[in-house]
Order: sequence, then structure tokens, then C-alpha cells
Amino acid sequence: MPDAPRPAWIEVDLGAIRRNVSRVGERLSRGTQIMAVVKADGYGHGAVPVARAALQAGATWLGVILVEEGIRLREAGIDAPVLLLHEAPANRLDEALANDLTPVVFTEQGLVSIGEAAERAGRTVRVHLKIDTGLNRLGVLWRHAEELAAAIAKEGRVEIEAIFTHFAFADDPTNAFIDTQLQRFNETCERLAVLGIEPAFRHVANSAASITRPDAHYDAVRLGIAMYGLSPGPKCDGIVDLDPAMTLRARVARVTRVSAGEAVSYGHTWRATRDATIASIPLGYADGWARGLSNRAPVLIGGRRYPAVGTVCMDSFMVDLGDDGCAVGDEAVLIGAQESERVTADEHAAALNTINYEIVTRMSPRLPRVYLDG
Ligand SMILES: *Cc1c(COP(=O)(O)O)cnc(C)c1O
Repeated sequence: MPDAPRPAWIEVDLGAIRRNVSRVGERLSRGTQIMAVVKADGYGHGAVPVARAALQAGATWLGVILVEEGIRLREAGIDAPVLLLHEAPANRLDEALANDLTPVVFTEQGLVSIGEAAERAGRTVRVHLKIDTGLNRLGVLWRHAEELAAAIAKEGRVEIEAIFTHFAFADDPTNAFIDTQLQRFNETCERLAVLGIEPAFRHVANSAASITRPDAHYDAVRLGIAMYGLSPGPKCDGIVDLDPAMTLRARVARVTRVSAGEAVSYGHTWRATRDATIASIPLGYADGWARGLSNRAPVLIGGRRYPAVGTVCMDSFMVDLGDDGCAVGDEAVLIGAQESERVTADEHAAALNTINYEIVTRMSPRLPRVYLDG
């Protein structure tokens, strides 16, 4: 067990990241590249180590949201192409270009800003044109893509390297709306081709579509959640073997016995119905262990599952071991495997009425990340 600077930490298995990337890679159509999506600090796993592992396993592109996320990759010496999946704010474009981050464009104003930044940098800037085919979030609406593309062509210093879109269903690749979006995307590509705009790089698929929809593979897939070893949704379960990369561990900070009738933690929301051993775990909602897990999360100690009891505090919560014992310093696994037991991010997601994406992404920078590179 590697030593962590705090008795509550996240262990990230980079071997798992590499295996997940390779396994998805094996299913891709020939020539389809992988863009490893490492936004939000690699979904809470640590963007730089994850990016390196993904590149080792065959990914050729990286995707982030913020300019500073891209700069962190560059500062770590990563020189793979990095796409900024959102339009960068005008006041960060000089830095984006200086760090060779690839901007996305989908508004007239965004194009003007990129044109000006290209002018200041004295070079041509290649961009990815983001098309909104029905998510209605970001991107130029597919019906208006020609106008923006024509404006880009006129700009002179801005070149369209790629065209892409994003699905409204990240969990259900069988949804018929995926077909609608693919059809709109293909039509848009055809209409742009008529204008002489035929970028040889088109990317559409998220994890779910990477796994299940070869017709959405195009020239690259943007792989997020599956790379971290989590299933995009029940309809994707069991298709590819995925190894969860994140394990959340902590060491028991105190062990005590409470008598029947005594209550535990703020507000006394849990009361012992029999004498019980109570272990205190030194992490809480400030670390991303949601307060909503109060009285609802299983915890592994000594290879067995025990219930978390009482209200989750900012920096700690308690576990009921019944008549079993444990010692201060024993290891608890909060997400991940211990002996033959396992607690998954999906279980937490179900308890909190959310998705596994949020469970791993919400883990605070307060929790040290320890990397296994086996
Ligand atoms: C986050 C993101 C992805 C990755 O999605 P997953 O479902 O995690 O694979 C792909 N494309 C865009 C535009 C994204 O924002």
C-alpha cells in the first residue's frame, strides 16, 4: 500500500486507464482515433497522469474544457494535440494559442475573437467547428452551420480542421434521437462540402457510442467515462470489460463502543438498537463524500460491508460494525474493492439519485491522489 500524506486518499490505477483505452480501441473502426477526455481534472482522477496513460495506450488527442486545464497538460510536458471543447473566452485566447491548444468555434463572436488572436499571433489557427444537432447546449445550430463556416472561410487566418457534434444521450446508445442527430450531422457535412469545406476529421461519439455505435465512430471518438472504467449507463453494461480506476480509501481514526439507545453524529439521526462498535472515518462532505450519503453508504472494513451511520460531517463520518471489531489505522475502502467485496460509484450514484460521473468528479482536491502504475 503506497503511503499517502493524509489518512484519506484516492488511489488511481493507471494500468486500468490503459486497459480501458485499449479495450475500447480494439472495438473501433479502422483508422478511428481516440480523444481522451480529461476535463475536470480527469473526472477527478488527475488530468496529467490520466492523459499520459491514455496516450501510452494509443489515444492521440486530449480533450478539456478550460484553457487552464489545457495549460496544465502543457506545463507537464504533454505535447499531444489538445482540444478545448468549449469556446475559449476572448481574454484567454492568446494563452490558448501560445500553448498550442486547439480552439472550438460555434459563434460569430467567437470567430471574430479567434481571428483577432490569430492576427496577434501572426499565424493561421486551426479550429474545430462544433455543431448542435439537438442537444441544444453549445454549438452552432446545424441549420445555420453553413453561414458560420462561410464566415470562417472568409476570415483567412482561421481554418476548419474538424467538425463535430455531441449526443443528447450519453447513457442510452439505442435512443432513436441518436439517429436523428447522426442524420443532421451527415447532412451538415454534405452541405459544407458543397461550399468546398470538407474537413477530413469528424468526431461525434462519446463513451456510450464508442462502445455500441460503430456508425458513429467517424475519424475519432471522444472517450470520457469509459476510460475511467465506469459504465456510461445500464444499456452499455457488459459490452466491454471496464476496470474502475478510482479507489477511495481511508484509515479508521477512532473506534468506540456505544450502548443500545445511544445516538451517533450531528442531530442524532441514527440510534443504536443494540450495543455496537462505531468506527470513525476521517473524511466528509468537504472531501466530496456527499452529506446525502448519511445513513446510506456501505463501507468495507476487514473485507466486510458495514453501513455508514449518522449524519455525514464536513470532515468525518461513522460506520456501524455491530459486534465486530477493528483498530485505529485499519483501512476502510469507501469506493472500490477490498478482498472479495466491492462498493461501486454506481451504488453511490443510485443512493444520491445522480450518475457515476458526478460521484468521481466531485471528489475534492483535498484528497491526495496516489498513482499505481502497474
Ligand atoms: C465530456 C464530453 C465527452 C465525454 O463524454 P463521456 O460520456 O464521458 O464519454 C465527449 N464530448 C464532449 C463534447 C464532452 O463534453
